[in-house]
Amino acid sequence: MLLAEAPDLIVPELRPYRTRADTSGWVRDDGILPYLEARLAKYRYAGIGEFHLFGEEAELPIPQRMVALARERDLLLHAHSDVEAIDRLFRQWPQARILWAHSSFDRPEKVREVLRRHPRLWCDLAYRSDHAHGNKLDPAWREAFIAHPDRFMVGTDTFTPERWHFIGTHASFSRGWLADLPLALAERVAWRNAEALLRANTLPRT
Ligand SMILES: [Zn+2]
Repeated sequence: MLLAEAPDLIVPELRPYRTRADTSGWVRDDGILPYLEARLAKYRYAGIGEFHLFGEEAELPIPQRMVALARERDLLLHAHSDVEAIDRLFRQWPQARILWAHSSFDRPEKVREVLRRHPRLWCDLAYRSDHAHGNKLDPAWREAFIAHPDRFMVGTDTFTPERWHFIGTHASFSRGWLADLPLALAERVAWRNAEALLRANTLPRT
């Protein structure tokens, strides 16, 4: 419905959850696959996610089948995952494009190491965790953005309507720390990288 209202703004992703309760149980729930298949047959999506997947769970049959569905359609995977699950997803599908949700829950040194290992990995920064620094960027994060200027993007995590109330607050916070970066890099992290990643197969061409 949002896509129909604003096709120039909305990039649809398919979450493998029928209800919020699926967040924790989906990796072992047989009902997830028919749900995904039915939605994929009916609607157009840019990716599958954000899904929660950790460690060895990536090898369970249902996540593997979900990856296969994404692969058949060359869809982005948007993974709220630890490094182990990211590694395992790339082992299953080396040509995947993975957007790592909340990558900033990990330390920047670790994130840089994972980015070096996986050239088709991008990082969203939803709920950046160094709020204690106020509007000043943690120097280690600044170095990570400079080292990988094309791989990071602001995230909002507006997966549920109540989060939409915080879009303004979140944007102000993001603008605060983005202003602490050189302008060209701030623009990349704020929107250019996301647009480059998502425009390829989703946005209408103008
Ligand atoms: Zn999230």
